[in-house]
Amino acid sequence: MAEHSRIEWTEATWNPVRGCTKISPGCKHCYAETFAERFRGVKGHPYEQGFDLRLVPEKLAEPLRWRTSKMIFVNSMSDLFHDEVPDNYIVAVAQVMVAAKWHTYQVLTKRSERLRKLLNTKLRFAAEQRHIWWGVSVEDKKYGLPRIEDLRNADARVRFLSVEPLLEDLGKLDLRGIDWMIVGGESGAGARPIKKEWVLPLRDQCKRSGVPFFFKQWGGVRKAKAGRRLEGRTYDEFPSRVRHPILSAVDCASIASEIEARFHSGNVFPLSALNTQRRNTLAVKVA
Ligand code: SF4
Repeated sequence: MAEHSRIEWTEATWNPVRGCTKISPGCKHCYAETFAERFRGVKGHPYEQGFDLRLVPEKLAEPLRWRTSKMIFVNSMSDLFHDEVPDNYIVAVAQVMVAAKWHTYQVLTKRSERLRKLLNTKLRFAAEQRHIWWGVSVEDKKYGLPRIEDLRNADARVRFLSVEPLLEDLGKLDLRGIDWMIVGGESGAGARPIKKEWVLPLRDQCKRSGVPFFFKQWGGVRKAKAGRRLEGRTYDEFPSRVRHPILSAVDCASIASEIEARFHSGNVFPLSALNTQRRNTLAVKVA
């Protein structure tokens, strides 16, 4: 886990999966791929295998060791709902999020169909949690709008849209059931331009619908220079966060080692084997 993240809308990142494959135009300049491929072949580096997808089970229990409450972007270097990530691994990630509930988790995907299916079935126990926010990327109409429908049809307690990189005017959106919107332009070499006239209608629709609005950046080749002010102000709105007490270090260490041991024995899922008292403490409900 990276204790501090420079991503404007989060505080930390947690990557129990690394690597991914491209799925839509928003992926064209994927920062995670650029970063990971820099280290391909570097012996012992976490990205020795570049951007190839792989599970990182030794990272599974990491949030349990984080002793202060953080907003955590889950899989900033991958997509949790990639079709090569097994269902039972996704369930294990969700179980950690439910156990370490003093954090707020931001789970963002472009694989919205799988998100919908799993949240309505195996992940129902996590979908109902207010400290886990489930989001989809929306870069354009063709790929983005169907993702919003999938998200709305997922039985999630908190839903958000990451409209980034915004590549065109999205027109009027249906924001029913949406709790947060992030908007931003692409940054870095070859960044595709964003237009103010695409951003303002999104801000206004959020305002009318009572949806918190976060304007991340204009982007461009020199993102710092372009900044993130929109019509003279910074938009830094978030959904309200729930606060849960932090479990004792002893309990956390014990749960973490149980999760890791069960994973390595091939028997981590579900956590129904946790003793009853601990299950009650965690309020883990496995579908
Ligand atoms: S889904 Fe996300 S992590 Fe995967 S390639 Fe696309 S932008 Fe990169």
